[in-house]
Amino acid sequence: MRNNTLLFGLWILLSSFAAGLAAQDIKVADIRFGENGEATRFVLDVSAPVKPNIFLLANPSRVVIDMPEVQWQLGRSIEPKGIIAGFRHGLFSSGTYRIVLDLKNPAVVSKAFPLPASEGYSDRYVIDLKSTGSAAFTKAVKVSRAARLKVIKPSVPVAPPKIVRRTDNKRIIVIDAGHGGVDPGTLGRFGANEKILTLKISREIKRELEKTGRYKVYLTRNKDIYVPHRSRFALAKRVGADLFVSVHVDAIKNSKVRGGTVYTLNERASDKEAARLARKENKSDVLAGVDLAYTNDEVSSILIDLAQRETMNASAQSAEILLPEMRKQVRMHKKGHRFANLLVLKSPDVPSILLETGYQTNKADARMLNSRKGQRSISKALRIAADKYFETLVVQGR
Ligand SMILES: [Zn+2]
Repeated sequence: MRNNTLLFGLWILLSSFAAGLAAQDIKVADIRFGENGEATRFVLDVSAPVKPNIFLLANPSRVVIDMPEVQWQLGRSIEPKGIIAGFRHGLFSSGTYRIVLDLKNPAVVSKAFPLPASEGYSDRYVIDLKSTGSAAFTKAVKVSRAARLKVIKPSVPVAPPKIVRRTDNKRIIVIDAGHGGVDPGTLGRFGANEKILTLKISREIKRELEKTGRYKVYLTRNKDIYVPHRSRFALAKRVGADLFVSVHVDAIKNSKVRGGTVYTLNERASDKEAARLARKENKSDVLAGVDLAYTNDEVSSILIDLAQRETMNASAQSAEILLPEMRKQVRMHKKGHRFANLLVLKSPDVPSILLETGYQTNKADARMLNSRKGQRSISKALRIAADKYFETLVVQGR
């Protein structure tokens, strides 16, 4: 019985790939969760037939459903049922739209099939999940991984932007809009996802900085798409950035907590709050359904560690210069500079800071973060702070 389930899973995977993922402009009009005896059913209402690529991931137990780049048309929030604890969706990479289902307990795909449009129904795709023991789950994860590796072509990296030779004396800044795509980030009082706010703020910062004629600004993403941590700081290196600023919006249970914080990298968090933040911000790959078993960690050699230590000091210095300037323009937390072990700041040679612009869970902060005026204040603060920072570098002969 167990073997049949596994074989069936394999068949699903292979047949999905055979069908190809070339469909375009497919709309997802609705999704449904249902409980049918022991099985949990997940149904997608789609405007044209789809054959998703489905696979399992462990630690934590997840089901990942990859489709071509669909248009997600549901505005309302939907509660998951049965064995599904939660779910996320969004653009995973150019051409791939991903749904990640978080499982309460290990489960396998017992059935997955398309249902053609019929009276009153659009095309659907149905996935049935069935609880399983952890040994069977581990086996199913392995099978789905093996099948995936056999057919998946290595992902083609996005064409790198041309390396800019500085002939114009402009300082190069990379602004990193936190989260994106299948990783939504925090959710705020006004229902805004962090990923949407960080993009708005980042675009505003780019405008504000470039307006001066003193800066060339690159955004790590300019649409709602997932970008791995290392691709974010790799961009900074590629364009020869002088400064990397990752933009985020925090959330916390206590709605009274407010104000921005500048974070720089340190393996040891400066306090409990910094440790909490690092745990949250570093989870991006897990949330996006990335198979961490297959990411090789090239950020671990001793040479890089040494360069990084120097960069860490430079980053901390930049934060100390930026902070008082930020404080003049926007509300900053009392303890405005903290240290945390943040993956996105692990650029070996570009001074990097992470700016938590405020707390979405605080009414005043949320209002500020959601307004154009507030987004402009943050941008202005960062521009003045950057001016000051680079002036200091010039004085120091750097
Ligand atoms: Zn964040």
